Amino acid sequence: MLIDSHAHIDSPRYADDRAAMLARAYEAGVGAIMAIGIGENTGEMHQALDICRQFNGQPNMPRLYASAGVYPHNTTEINNEVLTRLDQLLAQPEVIACGEIGLDYYHEGAPHDVQRHAFIQQLEIAAQRKRPILIHCRPKEGTDDAWVDLLAILNQHWRPTGLGGVMHCFGAGWQQARLSLDLGFLISFAGNITYPKAQPLREVAAKVHLNSLLVETDAPWLAPMPNRGKRNEPAWVAQTTDALSTVLGRMPLEVASATTQNFSNLFKLGEL
Ligand SMILES: [Zn+2]
Repeated sequence: MLIDSHAHIDSPRYADDRAAMLARAYEAGVGAIMAIGIGENTGEMHQALDICRQFNGQPNMPRLYASAGVYPHNTTEINNEVLTRLDQLLAQPEVIACGEIGLDYYHEGAPHDVQRHAFIQQLEIAAQRKRPILIHCRPKEGTDDAWVDLLAILNQHWRPTGLGGVMHCFGAGWQQARLSLDLGFLISFAGNITYPKAQPLREVAAKVHLNSLLVETDAPWLAPMPNRGKRNEPAWVAQTTDALSTVLGRMPLEVASATTQNFSNLFKLGEL
């Protein structure tokens, strides 16, 4: 069994074939999917939960879990009403994670101080609801500025909770990986690890212990080879798992079972 730890299955790009897309994932061995609840704006944070409730319990479908959170570039929308809705979503049993949240200094968007403040506010809510967090971190090209700020905030505001989380779609270097592991985070690799130019990233992945790894699609984006450029979907997490297995010198089944166990341990799901 495989788990896609990060997919935007509420995307309008699945409007016409969402049930068939989920059935394909199940056929490919994907037993569970984390549906990311950020929507395109804060008004859509509930969509991932809605999809969980729509499909869970149907036969031959992956088990769906949801997250909820305010994406870094949507943090300018934050007010008390948004934070209250986030808190209420995190109280639902299907919503097992807060995210994806973090810092994005790569794209122009929400000012950095607004992002940092909103990140800390969301950490406080997630801590109260005892939900691990899913981190999006993207520095300005050629720098590690967002990582420096992110790791400082996590050290101060998150480490004491002991709740841990996931570095989603990891794309940084070994130093950032090591500091994330030290904070008790899992490191999740996406389809970009299969790309020809990703040799530095594969070298980082090779150093991460099997007990600290997850796999994801980040669908509908970042389709792994050989489907790069197409709409991605959770079934294709298998290609990313195969690539990661090669990097680690392990059997794909070993990586599948370890990443499934890691997911279950982080979110305290018991036997999956
Ligand atoms: Zn994402």
